[in-house]
Amino acid sequence: MLELAKVSFTEVKRLVDGGRALTILPVGVVEEHGAHLPLGLDSFAAETYSASAAPHLEEAGYEVVIAPTISYGVARAAIDFPGTLSLEPETLRSMIVEIGRSLSRHGLDRLVILNGHRDLHHMKALDDARAILVSERAGQVLVVGFASDAAMTAACYREGVKQFYQSPRPDREGHGGESETSVALHSFPQLVKREVIPQLTPNFDYDIEAFRNETKDYGSISDGRGYFGSPQAASAETGAKLVAIRGANIASVILKTWGKPVS
Ligand SMILES: [Zn+2]
Repeated sequence: MLELAKVSFTEVKRLVDGGRALTILPVGVVEEHGAHLPLGLDSFAAETYSASAAPHLEEAGYEVVIAPTISYGVARAAIDFPGTLSLEPETLRSMIVEIGRSLSRHGLDRLVILNGHRDLHHMKALDDARAILVSERAGQVLVVGFASDAAMTAACYREGVKQFYQSPRPDREGHGGESETSVALHSFPQLVKREVIPQLTPNFDYDIEAFRNETKDYGSISDGRGYFGSPQAASAETGAKLVAIRGANIASVILKTWGKPVS
């Protein structure tokens, strides 16, 4: 696994000549995730899942290149929380299209957009970018992780993980709850404010339809708490399992769609 920004152009030439390169572009956002978690959680999670998926793809014959993360996205539901930043969807779409075009110009023509942030406008912008790149024949492009296609999101993030949840209400776990807190405790524990977690009583009784459909803002449906579910149910052990399983899930979605490289 190579990080694009950390290698020289000669290394990219070698990769392209080998014909087996696959680029992963992690996409996140700057958005509140409760008082215990960092604003960049979705970006860090996308990077974590990229690293977890990569060995499976390499085993199948790909050479994995990780492009620098897009750490900004569309975050309208949480925009009233201090620190949350939002792009317009067109801005995000343009960034992805222009990065995809540049990659393709150099022959890096297999692009996986690995999205760590669930927001309907954000996911639509990624889909739109994909459609533009495909129409321009800029190569193969796939959106994985949180995607407009609910079946894709489930195949990447939900498949095979439910039994590891400790929460008494796994059906109510969401943004900033057990899953995201567990992944943070495992993958970037130095950024978790552990001392706050004992005060975060579970938020199970919220308007789940408004949460899913983004018809109300996160502040009003969480009483200003900014998390959904139970951060107290989280653990680093659960996080390790979620990261391993979701990385394998994402790799298997990619391999099912594209197969192994032919070169
Ligand atoms: Zn999140």
